[in-house]
Amino acid sequence: MEAKQIRTTFIEFFQSKAHQFVPSSPIVVKNDPTLMFTNAGMNQFKDAFLGNETPKFSRVANSQKCLRVSGKHNDLEEVGVDTYHHTMFEMLGNWSFGDYFKKEAIEWAWELLTDVYQLPKDRLYVSVFEGDSSDKLGMDQEAFDFWKKIVPEDRIIMGSKKDNFWEMGDTGPCGPCSEIHIDLRTDEEIAKAPGRSLVNQDHPQVIEIWNLVFMQFNRLADGSLKELPAKHVDTGMGFERLVRAIQQKSSNYDTDIFTPFISYLEEKSGKKYGQDEQTDIAFRVIADHIRAISFTIADGQLPSNNKAGYVIRRILRRAVRYGYTFLDFQSPFLYELCPLMASQFGEIFPEIREQQDFIAKVIQEEETSFLRTLDNGLKMLGSIKSEMKEKGEKVLSGKVAFELYDTYGFPLDLTSLIARESGFSLDEKGFQAEMEKQKTRSRAASESETGDWVQVEEESSVEFLGYDQLESESKIIKYRIVKEKKGEKYQLVLDRTPFYAESGGQVGDTGWLLSDSEKIRVIDTKKENDLIVHFVEKLPQDPSALFTASVDRQKRSLTMNNHTATHLMHSALREVLGDHVQQRGSLVNERLLRFDFSHFSKMTEEEIEQVEKLVNEKIRENVPLLERRNVPIAEAKNMGATALFGEKYGDFVRVITFDPDFSVELCGGTHVPFTGQIGFFKITSEGSVASGVRRIEAITSVEAENYFRQQEDLLKEVYDILKNPKDVKKAIEALLSERNELKKELDVLHLEKAGQVKGQLISQFEEKDDHKVLIAQVSLPNVDALKKLAYELKNEVEKSLIVLAADIDGKPQIAVIIDETLIAEKGYNAGQIVRDLAKEIQGGGGGQPFFATAGGKNLGGLPQVVSKARELFLG
Ligand code: ATP
Ligand code: MG
Repeated sequence: MEAKQIRTTFIEFFQSKAHQFVPSSPIVVKNDPTLMFTNAGMNQFKDAFLGNETPKFSRVANSQKCLRVSGKHNDLEEVGVDTYHHTMFEMLGNWSFGDYFKKEAIEWAWELLTDVYQLPKDRLYVSVFEGDSSDKLGMDQEAFDFWKKIVPEDRIIMGSKKDNFWEMGDTGPCGPCSEIHIDLRTDEEIAKAPGRSLVNQDHPQVIEIWNLVFMQFNRLADGSLKELPAKHVDTGMGFERLVRAIQQKSSNYDTDIFTPFISYLEEKSGKKYGQDEQTDIAFRVIADHIRAISFTIADGQLPSNNKAGYVIRRILRRAVRYGYTFLDFQSPFLYELCPLMASQFGEIFPEIREQQDFIAKVIQEEETSFLRTLDNGLKMLGSIKSEMKEKGEKVLSGKVAFELYDTYGFPLDLTSLIARESGFSLDEKGFQAEMEKQKTRSRAASESETGDWVQVEEESSVEFLGYDQLESESKIIKYRIVKEKKGEKYQLVLDRTPFYAESGGQVGDTGWLLSDSEKIRVIDTKKENDLIVHFVEKLPQDPSALFTASVDRQKRSLTMNNHTATHLMHSALREVLGDHVQQRGSLVNERLLRFDFSHFSKMTEEEIEQVEKLVNEKIRENVPLLERRNVPIAEAKNMGATALFGEKYGDFVRVITFDPDFSVELCGGTHVPFTGQIGFFKITSEGSVASGVRRIEAITSVEAENYFRQQEDLLKEVYDILKNPKDVKKAIEALLSERNELKKELDVLHLEKAGQVKGQLISQFEEKDDHKVLIAQVSLPNVDALKKLAYELKNEVEKSLIVLAADIDGKPQIAVIIDETLIAEKGYNAGQIVRDLAKEIQGGGGGQPFFATAGGKNLGGLPQVVSKARELFLG
């Protein structure tokens, strides 16, 4: 059975058992501070399990894009080394929200695997939670009894908390589970050792394929378990592992999910898969990582220097590095796999096909820049190696290895490999120590401890009123304390709130909570899953009081100007630049709007002007807002509403229209009632953020007015400075041309001076053995003049060694230049000499063996440079 059919069969099987199919949620997680990437099928249903949200269907089946490269579930180091852990994989799941429980989950799993997929029963093992005393939980007798009805008892294994108690993170929904394992060894091997003894022992052919989780508890921050209001089933089956079992392969990479990638890489590299363990790992790493990289970029996460973006960058670099070292790929190659990605996965995940060109462009750019870094790192390592050889050192320090890792992205194994090739060993302990130090540093910077919610009112769903009003009578449902390095923060949830929580790029509202006796400042509002969380300066004395929740009107109103202007600009950009313009990121606050979008070249002045004009026209037209809530998603799409990639839309959406022929977008943000309120729109900058992504910053209303006022003031000052000329442009041009004339004259004078200095210096050379030495302190206008002087002296005086200690406009500088024959005879090295001398001026530098320069901080050290050099070369 082909992979595609295996996936469809799964969905159809559960549809026949009254399950509703739901699409995968994005792989990049927004609105959840505890998670960067979706790491299990259950993530998108977290609220349903916690009871924050009533699920629309009580039975659901899906295939979820997952990524396990950070946090609690991190398989990155295994990937490629073994043949059954991926970074990105599909998790097939069936779900019951307060509907069926253990019995059906167990029976259906067995039916699907053995009847439908025809997996051999005598190769399957199942496990049951054995209980755990620290959690005061007994064994899962219920699951055991259901299993006993369908499988012989010797195929049921008791599992520990580590394997048979599933938890999403440190806190949150969890429960005991039953895993299904399959023994894929050959008959011969099976005869030697029973499969039972190999379950959960990391054997590459005896692997877990399906995990049936029985959600019963919520893990609280203090580590205790609380029963959930209703019991649920959450199952997860690794699609790639299932396909391997059905297709009877000994590795996931031998299934038709991966073989096209491996074949492509074989052809490109001229190497064969399956002949050498190291190159095999490289093949697998690349075939795996291209999926993780493509899917996350498609869902809106670009590689970058922090958080989720950095995780993606590291995965990409890992792939490039394996290709570089083991498959001899010296130029970008990953991006060439994008068409294959589109044809393999475009059908079930259309975002991969729709954004194929964009994804390729981003990857290619990242690869190019990393290959350059890799090159620089190799050069740096090269010069360190030669220095070590000179000094007779044998061990590459952990510090150097860490610097290579940290700034050049060199994994330890690469550095160690290169070191070994040159006969060095590597101080791995030292490296680990540096790594620990950095971890401690970043931990200390970000450490926070989130307390459990303290319930004040009975839990109810929260009502958001902020589209229609800026004030409401509200009660606190619950609050909690977050301890951070800087002190305590407080968060609370209201039963009804006018506060808009940060999302869709729009910042959260600020404002106040007022009771009869207190006024508490709300400093921010954020979403956590679907909960609106208010960040407050202090906790109220009486949390159960009735409050007036009041939004800062001015800030909100300025923010709305910018949000509506963003929509207008988005449409204007598409009109001026073309339909390929897609939103890639957005920030809207009371001061400005920032908008990232896909476009491949710098915008011209004219294009910027056209966009500004179009937006300002729409502002002057005073277009009214047309807001429609709860529009079925299909209908919204028919209206031509612009939707964003990587955004999770429900079945019903909000549609914001400003002129049906101009701007229709799916949006949850707040907008002005009439565009006239925006006043004026002005783009302040346009630039590049990543390959194929441009960023515009713009301002409106008050800020735009301030901007023009400042420009006007500036111009006035310029007039003032120039003593109010009739034509300011002409006056400045005249000044500039006068300045150029003066500069030319000055250059001539400098040259003359340098000539004089040179003349004096030539007479100061001293004889030493068979060569000439000049050590002198000089004063020169700039570093170029110093270099020029050094070169000229060397050319005019044969077989010379020259040390110049220069005062360059108050800054100390050293130049050392040595005749090539002297270098060969005496083994001098200008780079080393200059570094040594630079200590006297508290500086550093370097260069080539025949010429090197150094700058420093201590001008007073120049005489010492001279005396030290005299000792060295004339002493
Ligand atoms: P393992 O012990 O093999 O790492 P797990 O216990 O971490 O698996 P679960 O968290 O229970 O796995 O996830 C459910 C299913 O998802 C597993 O049974 C397996 O089939 C699949 N799976 C888990 N991690 C990966 C991965 N990194 N790559 C591919 N499939 C995976
Ligand atoms: Mg695992």
